[in-house]
Amino acid sequence: MIGFHRQASGYCHCCRSQTVFESTEAWLRDFYKCRKCHSIPRQRHLQHILDRHFAGWEKLAIHESSPSNTFISQYCSSYSSSEFLPDVAPGTTKDGVRCESLEHLTFADRSFDVFVTQDVLEHVFHPDVAAKEIIRVLKPGGIHVFTIPKHKRVRKCQPRAILKNGVIEYLLEAQYHGNPPVGDGPIQVTKDGPFLVTWDYGDDFEFILQDWTGCPTTTYVTRDDSLGLDGEFPEVFVTRKPV
Ligand SMILES: [Zn+2]
Repeated sequence: MIGFHRQASGYCHCCRSQTVFESTEAWLRDFYKCRKCHSIPRQRHLQHILDRHFAGWEKLAIHESSPSNTFISQYCSSYSSSEFLPDVAPGTTKDGVRCESLEHLTFADRSFDVFVTQDVLEHVFHPDVAAKEIIRVLKPGGIHVFTIPKHKRVRKCQPRAILKNGVIEYLLEAQYHGNPPVGDGPIQVTKDGPFLVTWDYGDDFEFILQDWTGCPTTTYVTRDDSLGLDGEFPEVFVTRKPV
């Protein structure tokens, strides 16, 4: 049997160099990697959108939630990041990592030009609150640029699990992504532990997001071999706070 093999040469927006993209797995979203920096398509696509539509973004005030790499931070002069740490008070740091809950950010209004979340919003219990919080901490004209899995066969966004009095109630079968999250391939658990999928997003995602935030969202879909962009869930979303 001949195994899967996909290869193309092109430009990687994560390491900003000519490279070779390669995968021996059919699930390109997580395995179509840059030989030089090991980035995957959604990471390259997000930085392609920043480079193409927001030139000079590296000099802006940027915050990234739960980064799993330095693809963005390596270029930025005003970058900060945070992660949700269950046992740490939001706004404080542990071992150099700042704890923040997207549902209750401790940042002042109008703190950032760009807020980045990559496959994070499908893991929060109240994405409506989180999306609004992100808009609150953006400066006027600022952007939330992010990825989530937007499923083809889900007509309406729906929670998979909810919190009731601090206890998780499962509305659909429990599903987990590793860290970094791995789309809707097989359930994967990594050394960093499983991350419960709380929401399935589908066709009405942009509409429901606009209801939540009051802000318009642009969805980018790019498939381009010369940029190593292919695979499931290619969307990069940009929600802009009005000036
Ligand atoms: Zn690269």
